[in-house]
Amino acid sequence: MSDLTKLTLDAALTGMANGEFSSVEITKAHIDAIKDAGKLNAFITDTHDLALEQAAASDARRAKGEAGLLEGAPLGVKDLFCTTGVRTTACSKILGDFTPTYESSVTANMKADGMVMLGKLNLDEFAMGSSNETSFYGPVINPWRKDADLVPGGSSGGSASAVAADLCLGATATDTGGSIRQPAAFTGTVGIKPTYGRCSRWGTVAFASSLDQAGPIAKTVKDSAILLQSMAGYDAKDSTSLNLPVPDWVSACGASIKGMKIGIPKEYTIDGMPKEIEDLWQQGMKWLEAAGAEIVHISLPHTKYALPAYYVVAPAEASSNLARYDGMRYGLRVEGENLNDTYERTRTEGFGDEVRRRIMIGTYVLSSGYYDAYYLRAQKVRTKIADDFKAAWEKCDAILTPTCPSGPFPVGHKFNDPVKMYLNDIFTVTANLAGLPGISVPAGLDANGLPLGLQIIGRALDEETVFKAASALEDAAGFSAKPLKWWG
Ligand code: GLN
Repeated sequence: MSDLTKLTLDAALTGMANGEFSSVEITKAHIDAIKDAGKLNAFITDTHDLALEQAAASDARRAKGEAGLLEGAPLGVKDLFCTTGVRTTACSKILGDFTPTYESSVTANMKADGMVMLGKLNLDEFAMGSSNETSFYGPVINPWRKDADLVPGGSSGGSASAVAADLCLGATATDTGGSIRQPAAFTGTVGIKPTYGRCSRWGTVAFASSLDQAGPIAKTVKDSAILLQSMAGYDAKDSTSLNLPVPDWVSACGASIKGMKIGIPKEYTIDGMPKEIEDLWQQGMKWLEAAGAEIVHISLPHTKYALPAYYVVAPAEASSNLARYDGMRYGLRVEGENLNDTYERTRTEGFGDEVRRRIMIGTYVLSSGYYDAYYLRAQKVRTKIADDFKAAWEKCDAILTPTCPSGPFPVGHKFNDPVKMYLNDIFTVTANLAGLPGISVPAGLDANGLPLGLQIIGRALDEETVFKAASALEDAAGFSAKPLKWWG
């Protein structure tokens, strides 16, 4: 049998449906691949025995004709999703060996659809980062590494690296300011963040609740549609969950884009962006035009305020969400001389530098005297950004931009300069601030042979158009490059 780890999710599901191989077989192939890929540091918790049990149960269900949407597919889960009986850390020391007694709604949906969970994937601590270097469990390495270790992007670096290296058929991820799309771009994979409210946030460790959305990282656009189809859906346990049916996104993949209007925002041309990214963007416009779309030039005038607004709103919400880690209920507890001392010691020891930085920024911008000047103003900017998009939708159906202003960079390169690191999110945070769906599609290689992505942003709830445009881009780009296997 050929290497089952090289299959797309779609092909694997078809292969199992046709009886060409079993879930146990394809799960074993992925377990072997994971055992061989320790150098990538993508998985931080292996659940191989559990996966084999799930695979056997899945094969039995299939034999009875009870196959779900993800039946028997071996997948990875970002360690931000709570999983019953399986350690969930958010890659923070403060969660220690926290083992939830409940399952996140997203992973529960996937389990109900037949997912086989291979293990839990590395991420930036509490999903704060753009390089997966803030993880308590150490950095994830990008499989596209050539001479030096490269970051896979973040915060869903483990998910992206594992999918790119064929360690799983797809993975869950989350995106607060770009954490699905940027790592997808850095690893030659596809990542979609749906409209805010499509996926339930229940049971997912919170970073910034008004921005957080779950979504998949996958090998192809269609695979990402299959995964999102399973992950999404109304959940009464999340008050921001949208009570709307989940459309058939899988069928949207490959549909015609004739007459679709694609907006090109002039504000996304920024100083210092490498020419190869600008060129790829131009190429993307030509590809979509050749597929029947019409290119229209638009303006999103408040774009330049998006990043500063994001880096006020996200830390503000984070500082509030992280207040629960006090050493009293779960996770790490460092005993002090009195209650306050215990809080202080626990939080000082439990949180890493980046998380502490966010808590300090967040409490500062929320403090009386500064609230109006920073937090309230950032919220107003957020409304302006959403209004910019609303005006743009009068002229176009979807927007094409580069996913990131740079390709993958070496480990350590931006780590000690937070502002430099934050600038990497310049093209992705806008979709979170406005709650819109956005996808990154691998579209080309840079001069060093490293992957680059293009992003499609759509109207709220219009993932369908996003999938159509993304498929057209994927077809035209014909991106088939894979990292050479140097690990293992
Ligand atoms: N890189 C951004 C940050 O550090 C976004 C992270 C995310 O989307 N979770 O906040």
